[in-house]
Amino acid sequence: MKPLPPGSVIGILGGGQLGRMLGSAAARLGFDVHILAPEDSPPAARIAAVYWQAAYDDESALREFADACDVITYEFENIPVSSVEYLVSIGSVVRPGAASLEKSQDRLAEKQFLNAIGIETGAYEPVSSPDDLATALNTLGGAGILKTRRDGYDGKGQVRLKTGDDLAAAFADIGKVPAILEAYVPFEREISVVIARASDGTVTAFDPSMNDHAGGVLRTSIAPCGLSEPVIAKARSMAETLARETGHVGVLALELFVLEDGTLLANEFAPRVHNSGHWTPEGCLTGQFEQHIRAVAGWPLGPVTRVFDVEMQNLLGEEALAPADSYGADAVITLYGKRDAKPGRKMGHVVRRTSIRALS
Ligand code: AMP
Repeated sequence: MKPLPPGSVIGILGGGQLGRMLGSAAARLGFDVHILAPEDSPPAARIAAVYWQAAYDDESALREFADACDVITYEFENIPVSSVEYLVSIGSVVRPGAASLEKSQDRLAEKQFLNAIGIETGAYEPVSSPDDLATALNTLGGAGILKTRRDGYDGKGQVRLKTGDDLAAAFADIGKVPAILEAYVPFEREISVVIARASDGTVTAFDPSMNDHAGGVLRTSIAPCGLSEPVIAKARSMAETLARETGHVGVLALELFVLEDGTLLANEFAPRVHNSGHWTPEGCLTGQFEQHIRAVAGWPLGPVTRVFDVEMQNLLGEEALAPADSYGADAVITLYGKRDAKPGRKMGHVVRRTSIRALS
């Protein structure tokens, strides 16, 4: 596909804040954005040139959407793989394609794939019954985190367990669905690498950020991440391997646990722009949203040089209702336009530029 000229239409499956920020970046580069999602007036719909309200598996809507778009991408990793395959079967260009989407949707397949391409993870065991769970808990030394294989996000569908806990109740808690038990990783910190791969195979990786979670939800991301150059180089090369091996075109994020001795273990990856990269538009010469749009439009990637030290803080629930001037003069605020500030809901984020870096 030739680089898309300005005025072309980029279609995005998914209507959340990631679609909204991708859409804004696309508009700035001269593209029109069409959003397809099932919700009534989601955040991305309200900045789109055209909003298609339809189920992700509504083939007649997908066909009309495809006819209107020059390239299609997604902002949500639970889009049915069959919808992407359908779009490809009718001749659409979908970037990234189905491969990275499919692997990221199932925690077991994801970890097996990561291991197969030489990316280490913590230990894990598949679980499909309370009996399996008892065996797995034993194998993993008596403690672990039970996670559903599919549809979990932000700590949902997860239960921490140790020997002696009621395993039948834990399995019922996650809905008696196929799951994995992960060994508890005694990490020193968590980092993520947000990387972009262009259609010609070139890659650019943002500096890793150090991420803090509370209750499974990201609270802050800080760059630099405070690790030594060799560890950072290793993290980047793991993300690069992943992007290459999935034939990914666009942005992806690899979340890593860092052990005391600098060992890196992959937690999971997202085949899309990522919350831990929300500091990049303010911190780097090119941000993750623009970079993704460049990649899917067949443009060359932008430079990702980081020009500020930054701290990104998520605004959850009513935190986003604070007056804009209460964040301090150095804060850059992004709000997602969600009308209902439910507790814990990601409503926006603030980026603080803590110091400026010399451009070498
Ligand atoms: P996840 O949804 O799998 O990314 O999990 C959310 C957060 O829970 C992670 O970012 C970690 O802070 C914590 N967590 C998840 N899995 C593990 C694990 N196996 N060991 C230790 N902490 C974990």
